[in-house]
Formats: sequence, structure tokens, C-alpha cells
Amino acid sequence: MTISALDLAAETKRLLTELGVSADRYIGGTLRVTSPVNGNEIGVLKEHSALEAKDAIEAAHQAFLEWRAVPAPKRGELVRLLGEELRAAKAALGRLVSIEVGKITSEGLGEVQEMIDICDFAVGLSRQLYGLTIATERSEHRMMESWHPLGVVGIISAFNFPVAVWSWNAALALVCGNSTVWKPSEKTPLTALAVQALFEKALKRFVAESGAAPANLSTLLIGGRDVGEALVDHPKVPLVSATGSTAMGRVVGPRLSQRFARSILELGGNNAAVICPTADLDLTLRGVAFSAMGTAGQRCTTLRRLFVHESVYDKLVPRLKTAYGSVSIGNPLETGTLVGPLIDKQAFTNMQSALEQARAAGGKVTGGERVENGAGDAFYVRPALVEMPAQTGPVEHETFAPILYVMKYTDFDQVLELHNAVPQGLSSSIFTNDMREAETFVSARGSDCGIANVNLGPSGAEIGGAFGGEKETGGGRESGSDAWKAYMRRATNTVNYGKTLPLAQGVRFDV
Ligand code: NAD
Repeated sequence: MTISALDLAAETKRLLTELGVSADRYIGGTLRVTSPVNGNEIGVLKEHSALEAKDAIEAAHQAFLEWRAVPAPKRGELVRLLGEELRAAKAALGRLVSIEVGKITSEGLGEVQEMIDICDFAVGLSRQLYGLTIATERSEHRMMESWHPLGVVGIISAFNFPVAVWSWNAALALVCGNSTVWKPSEKTPLTALAVQALFEKALKRFVAESGAAPANLSTLLIGGRDVGEALVDHPKVPLVSATGSTAMGRVVGPRLSQRFARSILELGGNNAAVICPTADLDLTLRGVAFSAMGTAGQRCTTLRRLFVHESVYDKLVPRLKTAYGSVSIGNPLETGTLVGPLIDKQAFTNMQSALEQARAAGGKVTGGERVENGAGDAFYVRPALVEMPAQTGPVEHETFAPILYVMKYTDFDQVLELHNAVPQGLSSSIFTNDMREAETFVSARGSDCGIANVNLGPSGAEIGGAFGGEKETGGGRESGSDAWKAYMRRATNTVNYGKTLPLAQGVRFDV
């Protein structure tokens, strides 16, 4: 069947019904959603107003006041049930991700697997929200550090990980005793409706098992920037985790700090890999191909800059060009496809404009053209490999499309400097079998990114590590390691169990 003949509206309806979303949620509104797979309209949603958003936040605050009193391991039980619902719904939700975002099947499923993984992580965490006992200088005193729930956690997410980003934040926020209010991308609200329905199913089971849980523990707000801003400006939202472009973070960050709220900013990346003389070139080829072309170049961690040592340049780059020329591009729902569509026409225009700029700066472009699949309103492209004489012009910016800028290098210290000489700092990697180069890359004088890998590409992180980046990537960390601490407030407690009142630092105040 041709792509344009696919009835994605009907399939979306079937999936949403299976996932527990009633039809009145995605018909009869003003927010039109189309599938990038063939441009079919797949839903028209009602949007929330900024006023409704404010009311929802007040209600979420009430939910927080109750939820914070529930013991953390019991809160973990809700997240365990959510994980179970996600497991049962993996196929349907993964398929819906593929339809709404255009991800290939294994990536759509992989995104849901990531949600399951973070639920598992959060359940374990619910029994490990450890504080410290700290040595005190005063006798018969005890000093400790406690972690308490924070409040309503606002979640603003980008189109390219339409559901996983919610779970990274929500699973941790919930076990930490918070309520959440989520504003997904206006390009991907249908998968958000499905996730909300799964959450509500888990909550119902939790209530049946445990007796009670507050209403409005997790709220979904459908809308654009104005709804996001209502979340950002509301005094009862002490933390907003915002994932998206650096341009969005530049607006959201200062607005949050203006009212002394916390932020987790997960913004754009401009990720690089360094290919050294001793690199295993077969492995490198696969690592580069997945990182640069996977998800049609629409991951925050997508590989965009490739520095290849002059001694291996002529061995690797022609092989890469062959891979770029032969990679299967097309219907992401079909087995065997590796590169699906761009999200929309604007993404295609941005890509073409970056390629023009690269040509003007002396770049030699291979690929990048539109691939006609008989679906006029969908935008499929051949990934572009651009040999650049230097790191200038569009190489310094993130273009959210599959463009890989390739540059030759001679000296290791110089390439480290070039690697770090862009404003973004999300992910990075080095391919080498030289232990000194590998260790230097991950050392303090190596990559300046939040993620630095050896012998694998910069994209495709696991949930166990803290995820996020430096500089214009925003500095936030979410997901694994001790990222949970951002979702709680820390209190230092000193308890005097003696009969005297010794003051710290030997201060005397005898009245
Ligand atoms: P975007 O910035 O256009 O939108 C992201 C979200 O922010 C949307 O929900 C949008 O409605 C909201 N938003 C925009 N302006 C806002 C404002 N002023 N106040 C409140 N909310 C606002 O990003 P996108 O096109 O959906 O996603 C692609 C971008 O996201 C890329 O730059 C990519 O690198 C980045 N991204 C980063 C990460 C990460 O973890 N670092 C992960 C995924 C995507």
C-alpha cells in the first residue's frame, strides 16, 4: 500500500480507543494534529485556556498537599502499577508514537520501553530517598539532612520524545511526593492523551488496592506556548522541567528565576564525535550511522559534527557516503525502514536553509534532497553528509534534521578545543582504541558535555544515568543517578537531646 493510501486517522482512533481515550478528547476542538507519515489529519483537540491552566495548577497543589503525606514506598506502588500498564500497552502506545512523530517501529517501541525502565527505577528509588547523618561539633546533638516533597512539578515537553520525557520527570516526581502538570508539545498531544489515560487506569487500581489517592495527581494541559507560560508563571509551581529548543529555554529560564522557582532545562544539542587513528572503523561506521541518521536526525543527542583524523578520513568517509546513499528511507511503520519523515514542512525548510548556508561556507553536500514517497504533505529526506572545510556557519547551530558536518583534523589537543567550541554541551563521543585519548576525552580537560561516550555514538542514552547537558543545553539533569534530588527540597535538621545549649563555633550568649 502506498503511504498516502494509509488510513492513519482510522488507525489512530483504534489505538486511542484501545489505550482508553474517549473520542470526545480528540475530535471537535481547534488544535489540528497531523501525522508526519503521510500528512493525514489524525485528531482535532480541544485546547485549555491559560485560565483553565491556572485552575488545574491550584487543583494539582491540593493533590500535592495530600500526596506528600503518603509514605514514599506506597507512592512507589502507584508508579509500579503505571509501569505495568505501560508494559501491557507497549505495542499500541509505541505504534501511536510512530504515527504521531514518524519514528520507526523499533524506536516507537523503544520510547515506551524507556518509560517502563524509568518506572522500575523510580519504584526502587521510592525506598532509597536517603538523607545523611552528619557529624556535629556540639555534644548531645544530632544533625541530619532530610528530603521532602517539593510541590507541583510542571513538565513541558518537546515533540521528538513525546512520552518518554514525561515519564522521566513524572515517575521521579511522583515517588518524591509531588503532583505533576504536563504540557506536551502541541505537535504531539495524542500520545499524551494516551499516557494520561494509562496513568488514570493505574491510579484506579491503586485506589482499589490502597484505599485512596488524591484526584489531580497528574494533570494534562493541551495547548501551546500560552498554556506553557501559565505553568511557568504560577507561584504554586516550584519546579518546571522544560524540554525543547534553546530559544524556548531563553524565555522560560529567566521567567522562572524571576520568581525564584527551580528549573530543569533540557535544551538543544550540537553533538560531536571524534574519530581517532586507532578507531575500529566497522564499529565507528555503525555508531555514526545510527547517531546521525536515526530518528531522521531529530534527537537532541543526534550526532551533528564529526571530526575525523586525517589518517582514517579516506577510509571512513567514503563508506559513510555509501551508507548515506543506501539507507532505507520511507514509511516508518514498515519493517526495514531506518529513516522516517521529518516532523513537518518547517523542519524541511530549516534543513534546506542550513544546507544552503553550508554550501556558501564551502561545504560539499551529499544527499539532503527530498525523497518523494507519493505523500505530498509528508517530508522525507535523504540524510545529508556535508564535508566542511572548517567549523563555521551552520555547523555552530543545531538544525533539527539529519545533517552531519564532517571535518578533518590532525592534532588531538586541537580537536578537543574545536569539539568544545560550540555554545551547546549535551552529548559527545570518541572512537579510539588508544587508552590515553579515551581517558583524556572523559577527563576534566576533555569533552565539556553532560554526556561523554567512548566507542559508541552520542545518542541513545539509558535511563540509569543522569541525562542533560551544559552551556546552552541548559544545565538540567533528569532520569537516573541522583537526578531525583531536583524534585525534592532538602532540610538540614539539628536536634539537641541534651540539657545544655552549646552554640556552634564556640559563641557565648549567656543571659
Ligand atoms: P520547542 O522549543 O519548539 O517546544 C518545546 C516545548 O516548549 C513545547 O511544548 C512548546 O509548546 C513549549 N514552549 C515553547 N515556548 C514556550 C514558552 N515561551 N513558554 C512555555 N512553553 C513554551 O521544541 P521542539 O521543536 O518541540 O523540540 C525540538 C527541540 O527540543 C530541539 O532543540 C531539541 O534538541 C530539544 N530537545 C532537547 C532534549 C534534551 O533533553 N536536551 C530532548 C528533546 C528535545
